[in-house]
Amino acid sequence: MKYLISSLFLLTVWLIDGCFCQVFSQNKEYWQQKCDYRIQVTLDDTNHLLEAFLELDYQNNSPDTLKYIYFHLWPNAFKNTETAFAQQKVENGSLRFHYALPSTKGNIDGMAFKVEGKGVSLELDKDNIDIGKITLNQPLLPGKKIQIETPFSVKIPDSYSRLGHVNQSYQITQWYPKPAVYDKNGWNPMPYLDQGEFYSEYGSFDVEITLPKNYVVGATGDLQNEEELEFLNQKALETAKIDSFKSTKNEFPDSDSGFKTLHYTQKNIHDFAWFADKRFHVLKKEFTLPNTKRKITAWAMFTNSEANMWKECPNYLQGAIEHYSEKVGEYPYNQVTAVQSALSAGAGMEYPNVTVIGLSGSEYGLENVIVHEVGHNWFYGQLGSNEREHPWMDEGINSYYEQRYFTERYPNLKLSESLLAGVPPFLIKGLGATEKTLRDGYEIIYQFLARKRDDQHIGEHSCKFTNGNYGAIAYGKSILAFNYLEAYLGTKELDRIMQEYYRQYEFKHPQPEDLRQVFEDESKKPLDWFFDDLIGTRKPVDYWLYKFKKEGQTIGNDKFDLVTVRNHPRNIQGPFSLTALKEDKPVHRIWYDGFMGQEEVLFPSMEYDKLVLDYDNQLPEYNRRNNTIKRDGLFKKSGGVNVHLLPKLETADRSQLFVTPIVGVNTFDGFMAGLAIYNDLLPSRNLSYTFAPMYAFDSQKLTGTGEINYDWYPDIFSFIKRVGFNLHGKSFGYATDRVGVDNDPISLSYYRVAPKITFEFKEKEARSSKKKELSFRHIQLFSDKAADTEIYRPFKYVEQEYFNELSFDFSNTQVLKPHSFNLTLQQGKEHLLASGEFRYKSVFNSSRQAFSIRLYAGGFIENNTTNNPIRLGLSGQSLYDYTHEYMYIGRNAISDLASRQLYPIQGNFKVVSSRGRTQEWLGAINLESDFPFLPKLPFKAFADFGISADEENLYSDGEITVLYDMGLALSLLNNNISVYVPLLYSDVFKQGNALKWYERITFLINFNQMNPIRLVREAKI
Ligand SMILES: [Zn+2]
Repeated sequence: MKYLISSLFLLTVWLIDGCFCQVFSQNKEYWQQKCDYRIQVTLDDTNHLLEAFLELDYQNNSPDTLKYIYFHLWPNAFKNTETAFAQQKVENGSLRFHYALPSTKGNIDGMAFKVEGKGVSLELDKDNIDIGKITLNQPLLPGKKIQIETPFSVKIPDSYSRLGHVNQSYQITQWYPKPAVYDKNGWNPMPYLDQGEFYSEYGSFDVEITLPKNYVVGATGDLQNEEELEFLNQKALETAKIDSFKSTKNEFPDSDSGFKTLHYTQKNIHDFAWFADKRFHVLKKEFTLPNTKRKITAWAMFTNSEANMWKECPNYLQGAIEHYSEKVGEYPYNQVTAVQSALSAGAGMEYPNVTVIGLSGSEYGLENVIVHEVGHNWFYGQLGSNEREHPWMDEGINSYYEQRYFTERYPNLKLSESLLAGVPPFLIKGLGATEKTLRDGYEIIYQFLARKRDDQHIGEHSCKFTNGNYGAIAYGKSILAFNYLEAYLGTKELDRIMQEYYRQYEFKHPQPEDLRQVFEDESKKPLDWFFDDLIGTRKPVDYWLYKFKKEGQTIGNDKFDLVTVRNHPRNIQGPFSLTALKEDKPVHRIWYDGFMGQEEVLFPSMEYDKLVLDYDNQLPEYNRRNNTIKRDGLFKKSGGVNVHLLPKLETADRSQLFVTPIVGVNTFDGFMAGLAIYNDLLPSRNLSYTFAPMYAFDSQKLTGTGEINYDWYPDIFSFIKRVGFNLHGKSFGYATDRVGVDNDPISLSYYRVAPKITFEFKEKEARSSKKKELSFRHIQLFSDKAADTEIYRPFKYVEQEYFNELSFDFSNTQVLKPHSFNLTLQQGKEHLLASGEFRYKSVFNSSRQAFSIRLYAGGFIENNTTNNPIRLGLSGQSLYDYTHEYMYIGRNAISDLASRQLYPIQGNFKVVSSRGRTQEWLGAINLESDFPFLPKLPFKAFADFGISADEENLYSDGEITVLYDMGLALSLLNNNISVYVPLLYSDVFKQGNALKWYERITFLINFNQMNPIRLVREAKI
């Protein structure tokens, strides 16, 4: 009997919670815990504090006996710079929290947990102070429930992520002690993070918020106070009357001395958030759901900041609710709210029934973020997957449905009106992106990453994604993946299966295997290619139309064309379609099953011009340039070449060549004009080239540079990411101090060719900021030389020199203390040099101002060069750049301004002097610092110290002394343009000439780093 009673009791609970229908459709083993919260909280808006009391009914539905319960105490993430949140922020490049004033940080405090009225101990996790564990006085048996209670107070941090405040605008999220999920995999405690979301138990919430009367609050749940509803209705009437809002009028009114207590309740949710602001305008819209005619109330709350855009918000809310209700399953709650408030983690953030939206910038941006965040009421709210571990299950699938909202409502929506909204039209046109769609945008970003092997797999853990990939892959590539699945299954079928998944897992914790099970059971199709490969690996989709035979096969009376399709073993074997085009219009399409290797597929012989693989852009193709084959003609695969003046995005059917006019100038060649000729730029290709020949008007010579680069990504090796083959060449004029007949300087040129091979090693973690490269380079240098003859008449001959370099480069580009080193062994005709350089930078404030140090040591193991001696120098003048690595305005210029151009090589002194030059060894320390009291100004102080086996010292038997210089610098463009004013320096630099201080000014223009074509090719997302 007892059994019967308890079963009846359980049934009642289920019925009350509306879950009854799911109980029997689930597989028997599924269970989940239940948490019912009652929270009373008071906002102190003078001290930005919450004082609260939490009561929680914790129901253990697991088959296990629990001795302790993990609690998330996420406000503690804002307590210090050691927390997982703080560290991730720095890793992702934001230093605002790292250098936050203590008074702006936050935490949770004042907890005294009781279970069933008796005190229990709370123990904070050693590594994560935002995770705690309470040990129960008595084990909690399966099927039993306990009541847990505790007071708590929260110091609300400034807006550094989600929980926060800006003045008296409050974003109260992730704010109360909350049990971690206990599921079939055990406990899931997790520290609070910016990148990487959450996982929480379902239950009901009953929350009472007390705060000054004139606050407007947007929150999870149904508001129970009639009076407050009237207050909001009144606000909505007032707001509706405003024609135009003034975005500048945004100050906070004083807080009312009277208080009000707002009461909210909601069932079947796993979080509760609220947003309070005295300035909020309110808009309200009621609408009924098409199927059940249930009434939903949409609320929009916003300040003056983007108020004119927000007038449309209630319609966006309705659109989103209708879209997801139709596609996935009906919205089960009564209200949906969007608030515009401060958010320092992404563009918007989802909470049950309520979403917070930051500044959007454009109407598309606002509609996009609202639709996306409202969509999370399904993929996060009702389908409570583990977002931290499987971001694709909420962000990915939700983004896919968000994209469908836009393609269905705005079928002609272009990239320029969506992702690139705000980019000047001439740039969009210039890039050839006018016709690109929103989906194309995601594909281009994916290709950009994948072709450099900087992508990651969709199913990756949120914390393991690089900051860029979290958006580009977990969101962006997921859209492409689900588009592909939709194209393969059919839209209706995909919707039907997703609705079945929703039916089975509504208000539950589905795992990836659950989603897969539903799709495989329902579609009755093999989907390994989707779940194992497209989600589970970063294997690309890249079929290749290799050969074509017209009417190659006859079956019965039907003739078929034979198409040979290839698929590399490293690729995904997913299904693909072939579409026949007649005069660029599709006339017939067939889907084929995927395969690996080479296969001949049949396409019915009919009138058409060409076949295109994935004509409708439904596959996340790695390379569309091998997807087209012509039916007739000699060159079946070639679509011809388009020549453009400025770079454009890659096109699928034609090659591109860019020819851009360029100019240059240097002392010896004078003004130069020419053309830069280069191939596809975006997304990058394995083979790239740039030729930039110029005609020099003074020297009347052909000058310029050229480069061919081939990057091979040998996926088979576990330790090598890339093998780069590079061939670089250049020729420019340079100087000698000799003059020819009539005292004219002799016009000299150098020609330099340098092949190089680079091995870039793989890092274990994609988020690693480290990079290691081993390279070998040969430099062949032909220089015109002027020499004296016996009759004292200079003449010109060509000297041939060569250098072999073996280098190891390590760099760690982490934000706070980036550092790098390089070791190089250089062998020339008559010398052998070993050198090392170490750089270290210590960032000391949130504007990334830094102190940096560079150490250099170089020594000749052998140096027999006499005629044109090879020397190391203290300053980075062209004289010491004997391999002709860098671009100088006046190579070998001795006296004019051009002679004062420096590169940060060897001793890296900022004074110009021959002192310190050596054929033996040299060591230097370079210090540089920004001025902390001038955070916005590009001024620095520098100091250099060096010692060397100085030739002049040696010749005069002088002692080796430490030489120094120090002064001020103006540095722009990430130190690629600098002007140095040496103010104090060693006496030896003064000897021999009496230069004025301004005649000692030197400068750096790093032309090698400022090549725009190279910058684009090497760019990272
Ligand atoms: Zn999202």
